[in-house]
Amino acid sequence: MTDRLSFARALYDAVPLYDPKRTPVALDLTDNTNLWGLPPAAERTLRELPVARVTRYPSLYAAELKEALASFVGASAEHIVTGCGSDDILDSAMRAFGEPGSVVASSEPSFAMIPIFAQMNGLQYVGVTERRDHQPDLDALLAAQPRILYLCTPNNPTGALLARETLERAVREAPGVVFVDEAYAEFSGVSAIDLARRVNNLLVIRTMSKAFGLAGLRIGYGVGAPALVREVEKSRGPYKLNAVAEQMALAALRDDMDWVQEHVALAVRNRERLAVALRDRGYAPLASHANYVCVPVARAVDVGQALRARGVAARPFPGLPHVGDTLRISVGPWDLMQRFLEAFDDATADIYGTAS
Ligand SMILES: *Cc1c(COP(=O)(O)O)cnc(C)c1O
Repeated sequence: MTDRLSFARALYDAVPLYDPKRTPVALDLTDNTNLWGLPPAAERTLRELPVARVTRYPSLYAAELKEALASFVGASAEHIVTGCGSDDILDSAMRAFGEPGSVVASSEPSFAMIPIFAQMNGLQYVGVTERRDHQPDLDALLAAQPRILYLCTPNNPTGALLARETLERAVREAPGVVFVDEAYAEFSGVSAIDLARRVNNLLVIRTMSKAFGLAGLRIGYGVGAPALVREVEKSRGPYKLNAVAEQMALAALRDDMDWVQEHVALAVRNRERLAVALRDRGYAPLASHANYVCVPVARAVDVGQALRARGVAARPFPGLPHVGDTLRISVGPWDLMQRFLEAFDDATADIYGTAS
């Protein structure tokens, strides 16, 4: 136990350091990054980067990247704010729109960082259990009168897609701003960006950490009305996106789109193949629109540990509402999925005592 510093901010007493207890394993299927690797033009840019990119400061607000992202999503640069990962967009946006004590409401289960960012910013977090059909309980969320309403689609960890009419109603009826986290939108082919361009209270949050294979660079962005993203940008501050990240992201958006599309399609195909393989074993994976599969598995924490003992990591979610214990498995190349399935068969035989 460490001593409390008398001068530390009181609200940080209750803020934990994020620690998902990840010991390294041979095959890590816990974080939904791109298991096919780095897109080729981004890699070339990294190898050939002029030294001055590192010795000098990056651009203030990543203007060039905003232009490239705008054409990728079908908006203009004034609709875009970039950040150090979409985590930074979420954190900055909470700071931009929440007064101390304001309510941040989120459907649950969802992204584990939301209650933490709320707490870090002195906001009051309200979690509302999703409905049995894996849609948010919008009536209950709105009843909390949230200054910030967080929705995630496809949702992490279930993989469920938010119904368009629910999104439109949220934007119409929310008393404050609506955040729609689209970290996995490339795998679903569905986006709220068209709506974000028409209203002034919807911030769509995106990332290059998942489909683009650039998680280590920490590149996130928000899309919304110019006045909305300007507030997030103020809160974010200058120089937040590093210069190496900006150059690699530009290269990926300029020259790697075929690579990205091809691997998104492979992830979708292998996701369905993995779901079939799990169904063949008597499991009932949830319908996923992302690059992972969430499957109800009894004693998921024990199964997760048994998998780790076999060099494979998948993320257990104990006691999800309506479905119980689940494992969330990132999808990648099929040979890796086969390695997972072998370890899974072995681990479940071990845990349930039904030797195969
Ligand atoms: C991975 C993930 C993020 C974080 O992405 P970064 O851009 O790497 O910070 C945000 N939201 C959800 C739902 C995620 O799964």
